[in-house]
Amino acid sequence: MRAAVYHGPRDIRIEDVPRPRPVAGEVLVRVHANGICGTDASEYAGAQMYPLAHRHPLTGHQGPMIPGHEFAGTIEEVGDGVEGFRESEPVVTGAALWCGECPQCRAGRTSICAMYATVGLHRDGGLAELVRVPAHIVFRAAPFGLGADAAVLTQPMAIAVHAARRGAPAAGETVLVIGAGGIGAFLIYALAQAGVRVIASDVAAERLAVAASLGAEGAVQAGTAAELTAALQRSGFVPATVFEVTGSDAGMTAAIAAVAAGGRLVTVGIAKGPIAIDARRVTTKELTLIGTNALIGREDVPEAARLLAREPERWQAVAPRAIPLDRVIADGIVPMLEGRAQSIKLLVDPTVRRERRTAMR
Ligand SMILES: [Zn+2]
Ligand SMILES: [Zn+2]
Repeated sequence: MRAAVYHGPRDIRIEDVPRPRPVAGEVLVRVHANGICGTDASEYAGAQMYPLAHRHPLTGHQGPMIPGHEFAGTIEEVGDGVEGFRESEPVVTGAALWCGECPQCRAGRTSICAMYATVGLHRDGGLAELVRVPAHIVFRAAPFGLGADAAVLTQPMAIAVHAARRGAPAAGETVLVIGAGGIGAFLIYALAQAGVRVIASDVAAERLAVAASLGAEGAVQAGTAAELTAALQRSGFVPATVFEVTGSDAGMTAAIAAVAAGGRLVTVGIAKGPIAIDARRVTTKELTLIGTNALIGREDVPEAARLLAREPERWQAVAPRAIPLDRVIADGIVPMLEGRAQSIKLLVDPTVRRERRTAMR
């Protein structure tokens, strides 16, 4: 089968690799499409999550790897001992893997499993024609009424659902979401659908327009922490809950300045490294800092699928295009790295030779 294979920093090759065989407890999924995100881009550029040189303790993977953790497709083959799936039926997954045995897993918090791993980050993923997936993390798409292209958005939506749950704002509360990109857009929708009022902030006017179409009631276009702080001061809006989705120095600075005394700051964006924060203000404002990592497969994935199926047409502007597998570097990952991606989300369709428009309905 054809697959994109990561061999090292800035070295992803489109190759013919042996057809994967599902082992006991796994299903083989024929990939409909796979979305790419900032994590794929930073790994391509040389971050070191992929288990290239060391064996991953949970997945056992070591060596060149097929990326892709945001995928959906149809059941191609069912491994021994797997029940409940029929060949050719559409399925979704959050791609999250957990050990089930550590204290966090026992407490139901599988998103902070000591060995947390992701299909496509720690074992072969969806930038291929076929991908092996443990059956217990796969859900049938039909009961949700989820279309094929919308189903591909399940993983990032599940991350957003998890972040919304961690922040747990009250219905009717007005929150600030800093960053309306690859996760922020989904988070805005998840919050709005839960009855939370959202003011979105971003550098880009186009993203704020999409944010509005996903339910944001207000928008602040700002490129720096100072601009955002000044704009919020002018408006008099003092949010009790802020979701920081950029993982940037500017975003954290703005968030700590913006959040109300006694408020809650949910850090969704993953910072590239340590960033300096105004700890004095965290103390004197008695802020609550809330981390949120990835997703809980059994809870967040079904909820994500339900949300995506609710108004599929809204996702057209978020992910308008699907590109062929052999364009993933030039038209997908590199533009994302260089900050010139044309849309919030880009799909890669291993079955097409030419770019196609997505069909969310
Ligand atoms: Zn992702
Ligand atoms: Zn665990």
